[in-house]
Amino acid sequence: MDRTLFRGAKIWDGSGAAAYPADVLVEGSRIKTIARTPGALAAEGATVIEARGRTLMPGLVEGHAHISFGGAVNDSDLGNIPPEEHLLLTMRNAKTLLDHGFTSAYSAATSKLRLDVVIRNEVNAGRLPGPRIRAASPEITVTGGLGDERKNHMYYESFGMIADGPEEIARAVRLCCREGVDNIKINISGDDLGPLTHGGLTVMREAEVQMAVDVARDFGKKINCHARSAESVKRAVRCGVDVIYHCESADEEAIDMLESVKDRIFVGPAIGIIYGTLYQGEPFGFYRDSDLGRNMQRVIETTASVYKELRRRGVRILIGGDYGFAQSPQGENARDLKHFVDLLDFSPTEALQCGTKIGGEVMGLANELGQVKEGYIADLLLVDGDPLQDLDILVHERNLHVIMKDGALYKDHSAIGTAQRAAAAE
Ligand SMILES: [Zn+2]
Repeated sequence: MDRTLFRGAKIWDGSGAAAYPADVLVEGSRIKTIARTPGALAAEGATVIEARGRTLMPGLVEGHAHISFGGAVNDSDLGNIPPEEHLLLTMRNAKTLLDHGFTSAYSAATSKLRLDVVIRNEVNAGRLPGPRIRAASPEITVTGGLGDERKNHMYYESFGMIADGPEEIARAVRLCCREGVDNIKINISGDDLGPLTHGGLTVMREAEVQMAVDVARDFGKKINCHARSAESVKRAVRCGVDVIYHCESADEEAIDMLESVKDRIFVGPAIGIIYGTLYQGEPFGFYRDSDLGRNMQRVIETTASVYKELRRRGVRILIGGDYGFAQSPQGENARDLKHFVDLLDFSPTEALQCGTKIGGEVMGLANELGQVKEGYIADLLLVDGDPLQDLDILVHERNLHVIMKDGALYKDHSAIGTAQRAAAAE
């Protein structure tokens, strides 16, 4: 069995406790032993990594992944990509996520039905680099909803899978289940970035939402939703949706309802895309001094007040900011951590737990993933610098000294250093 010994690390374990110095032994795919006495663990047969005080922390979990999204300005850009190129794009994005320390990805939605599924299978088979993936369906949406770009005189592909009425919804969900997804996605509200229905509109009927949830349950799947309006959040809670994204217009009643099911659900603000549209959107035609810009500013403010309350009430919150659009590129996903601190008033520890411990829970691996603990899956990052002092450290690939997934060293910069030192000594 492969063994790796991290010696002299500072462990940030994800539990919420302060970081502490320790050595960590990984055996096979699991964390075997954590020793607080330096040098106490035998190194025989193990690859030894001298951490030199670097921070050892859990691998990051992207809680709102769109692995098949890349560079889109308009939603229909994703529909324009032919399937062959789209598969290659998704494959590259999976590697990009892992290169940036995301060892797990809970997919919020795919943009063509089998993209997440195929990449998940290839990664699991060890044939492609990528995070562990919970594969999603496309965004199941009603006519005129987010992800429907068709015109009356012209068919047009986007990222949505259009279904109207409970029967069509049932068929769409069953189709996605048959093709192997882990999570179903439904769009209950509209969206301000979509061309037709704004975020304040609740366009998927309760009977449609309920049917989607019931059929997903029949097949043993989780279900995610897009819910910006207060009513869409309430509809999601009433019908039993598992992961409720956005929620920035949740009113007091909606917040109470979310709290009442906090042990069952997860929420995620997806703040990265809002920030990106506001501050990095100009090259793509998103101007701050416009109705859209003012809307994005309002969304940041309402998100801050809603999530402050949700955090206080113990609702489980995920990072993941809709990365994969032109103004929120793949690879920058860890920026959400800093957004949580700067825009939503989280402490650095709270933000980092959203991207590790709570991420492990949404992956369906509570008590196994997302913390540095004995017996847990060895998804680990050895980081140059202290992320709690500056979360921006985690955004840059160069600061990730070692990336380990499932106990296997995916990136080991310390080995490169050793080889270079040996070469220099010769
Ligand atoms: Zn999304």
